[in-house]
Amino acid sequence: MKVLKFGGSCLNSKADVERTVAIIQKSGDCVIVLSALKGVTDSLIALEHSAKTGSFDLSELEKKHFEVVAGLKKNKAECERKVRALLNDLKTTLTGISYLKEFSPQTHDKIVSFGERIVVEIMAAYLRDSGVEATALKVEETGIRTDSNFSDALVIEESKALIVQALKKAKGIPIVPGFVGLNEQGLITTLGRGGSDYTATFIAAALSCECVLLKDVDGLMTADPKVVPDAKIVKNVDYLDAMELAHYGSKVVFVKAVMPAMLARIPIRVKSFEKDNGGTVISAEQGSSVVVPLAKNVAIVELLGYTGMMTVFSSIVDQLGKKNIYPLLITESSACGEVSIVVDEKSAEKIERIAAPLMKGRKIVVEKGLAMVSVVGSSMKGKIGIAASVFDCLAKEKINVVAIAQSASERSISVVVEGDKAVQAAQALHKRFIK
Ligand code: ASP
Ligand code: MG
Repeated sequence: MKVLKFGGSCLNSKADVERTVAIIQKSGDCVIVLSALKGVTDSLIALEHSAKTGSFDLSELEKKHFEVVAGLKKNKAECERKVRALLNDLKTTLTGISYLKEFSPQTHDKIVSFGERIVVEIMAAYLRDSGVEATALKVEETGIRTDSNFSDALVIEESKALIVQALKKAKGIPIVPGFVGLNEQGLITTLGRGGSDYTATFIAAALSCECVLLKDVDGLMTADPKVVPDAKIVKNVDYLDAMELAHYGSKVVFVKAVMPAMLARIPIRVKSFEKDNGGTVISAEQGSSVVVPLAKNVAIVELLGYTGMMTVFSSIVDQLGKKNIYPLLITESSACGEVSIVVDEKSAEKIERIAAPLMKGRKIVVEKGLAMVSVVGSSMKGKIGIAASVFDCLAKEKINVVAIAQSASERSISVVVEGDKAVQAAQALHKRFIK
């Protein structure tokens, strides 16, 4: 048994759906998790904003789905009916928004859930057309229950038993909508952008089997190939390194997807939808390579308090936690006198607003236009000279280091540099560390 998840970037046309069917047919016993067709979640978000101004146009979205439905043979009429019913529900919800000229977080989650809920019906129909028994699960049939943190919900532990039961009931191959769940009141929640990875790993954890994420990339790479053209595939990486990489801006695996796999000790394989290569395996086994992620558009919020900062800082951190703002790194001078919070530029303003009243007149300085380059890999632990090599490399490139952090696990060293030196820094570090 394994869970196969197909990313939205792989699902754009009838040909992609047919390719997916062929992969599923070769896969043996499996559960399928799907993302919405490419671009659909973005379109749904655009539609709700347009509805808020009083009007919206569903025709493009309808066309996108019905073009794929049109390729069906035996199961076309039934699939059309199911897709039409979901689109009608979407239309009613958008009409509601257009009257109210507003939408709540729960309405937003309902709106963006339609992409996944529609695509499962289409995929199940295609599988049945090619003689494979398959059942599309409705959002209320998956067993996936979450907290009520709309747009960024966490799947709750009790879901595991419900998922196992739900999958047993499904006839043939279960086709599960990724990204969506139900909260305690039975309202639709979503797990965060890119969250269908998390659906897949949670289900694999419930079934205690491998989870394969099929994407439009070859796997996890030693750097972003757009930044470092000769980046290579990383064959294996351990769970904590994978989480660290997701945190540092690698969009390959959704950050919340790693934890369920780590707790259940099941492997996640990230591989290409197009090519039949091995991809990257995320597991408890230590990886041998390091990775050089780059986070662009970074800012530093400097809290210059000098005295009494421990309590001030603790209340700021408390507020950041409540608002779900996770800094890239935090450094501090002795006794917390000068605290530097490194974050994406958008969060910098939020932090400034949160910190200002709590700092009670102490100074806050925000510096933008920066970038953070890291070297990540648990294989660095205990090796002498790695940090020296990072700084030697940057010094040889004449790149100034603005802030530094190394985790005590020794799995990451991060440096903040000027934004215009970011690519040069990443390329030089990649050359130095990846042979
Ligand atoms: N469709 C959702 C998104 O685009 C979830 C996913 O793709 O995993 O964010
Ligand atoms: Mg997507």
